[in-house]
Amino acid sequence: MPTPSRGSSALAVKRKGEVLLFDCGEGTQQRMVAARIGFRRSTRIFITHLHGDHILGLPGLLQTMTLLRRERPLHIYGPRGLLDFIKAFSSTLGGPAFPLEVYEILDEGIVYSGAEYRVDAVRADHEGECWSYAVVEHPRPGRFHPERARALGVPEGPLWGRIQHGADAVLDDGRLVRSADVVDSPRRGRRIVYSGDTRPTEALVRLAEGADILIHEATFDDVLTERAMEDGHSTASQAAEVAAAAGVGMLMLTHISSRYPDPAVLLEQARETFPNTRIAEDLMEVEVQPRPDPSTDAAVGGSPRRL
Ligand SMILES: [Zn+2]
Ligand SMILES: [Zn+2]
Repeated sequence: MPTPSRGSSALAVKRKGEVLLFDCGEGTQQRMVAARIGFRRSTRIFITHLHGDHILGLPGLLQTMTLLRRERPLHIYGPRGLLDFIKAFSSTLGGPAFPLEVYEILDEGIVYSGAEYRVDAVRADHEGECWSYAVVEHPRPGRFHPERARALGVPEGPLWGRIQHGADAVLDDGRLVRSADVVDSPRRGRRIVYSGDTRPTEALVRLAEGADILIHEATFDDVLTERAMEDGHSTASQAAEVAAAAGVGMLMLTHISSRYPDPAVLLEQARETFPNTRIAEDLMEVEVQPRPDPSTDAAVGGSPRRL
């Protein structure tokens, strides 16, 4: 339930001018205005599940995009039933006047794959179908050492780019220059994981393995562990256990129940297990820096169904 300072669920990942929006609770478009996230940007929306506090912002957001004459296509991914929900409000309000592509996820696996990153989904453990998501950047080319390239007589130009991206090159004089002679090994991409509403799960631990940041729901504190289990939620301590088991860089607690006007108790309980924990606040911004240590980059199988 929203409180004066805390809105319902929505998390935006801003990456090179593109926006990945995870959940779209009521009031999301207003927060987007405050966060200066434009409505005409390249955008993909990932919905965890069809509870009101995660989707009631969609009708308003799509209306505003139409009003602003968005032309770019909008891609929305989520559980089965998402298309029916969008059709239901669109039939009353009028459909979006821009291309809308809706994908319902049928299996765990890669939901979206682009040139620089992909988005994976695994099943969460909540009431009804719910998905946890990971944004996984592809490894980036290692650091290029121009002084080494010059010393080896590699002419400056397009060849440098090819060598940086892993290609070996034969120079005009017949000498072979290996990419590894000039370029460090590839740097791992960033990994950002969002739990959605869920009891703690093994699948989420695997999804979050080595993540730079895990945004995990913490609806209740330890006193209400039983209630959390009944309702398909997690306590702050349980979120911290997932973070510790997965070895993430930072844990961000979100989806705090309105019964905690001051969520300090949740922070305290989580930090006992995982010290690098913070509580998400509305409009909080976190810059995700890649961690130096390598981690697994294994995809899980499966593919979404395009509707
Ligand atoms: Zn829910
Ligand atoms: Zn919820």
